[in-house]
Amino acid sequence: MTILKCSAVKCMYNENELCSRGDIEITGANARHAEDTTCGSFRDRNSSGSAMNCTAQHCGCEKINIDCKAQECTYNDHCKCTASAINVSGCHATECCDTKCDTFSCKC
Ligand code: SF4
Repeated sequence: MTILKCSAVKCMYNENELCSRGDIEITGANARHAEDTTCGSFRDRNSSGSAMNCTAQHCGCEKINIDCKAQECTYNDHCKCTASAINVSGCHATECCDTKCDTFSCKC
């Protein structure tokens, strides 16, 4: 599994820059640059319902399963991320499109 560091601290799953979701989806089917990717699992803390906040695990895990649609990335193997560690950024993100996988590296 991949070690994930995530700076999207406004996401409801972010706990001390680790993700508590268990698995995430990275989008960017035609991505050629990191900016073309997003974390599709981002959910804004403030606009998500309180019921969801109650059920969210309040522990961040270093290792996470990543379903990644950015197939042009060097680390992508049949929609799985094979990088040992990645960084997702978006410290001011309030929606998915404000986030990106900084570790994206194009095969192109
Ligand atoms: S490093 Fe590449 S394969 Fe891994 S999540 Fe980021 S974009 Fe996807």
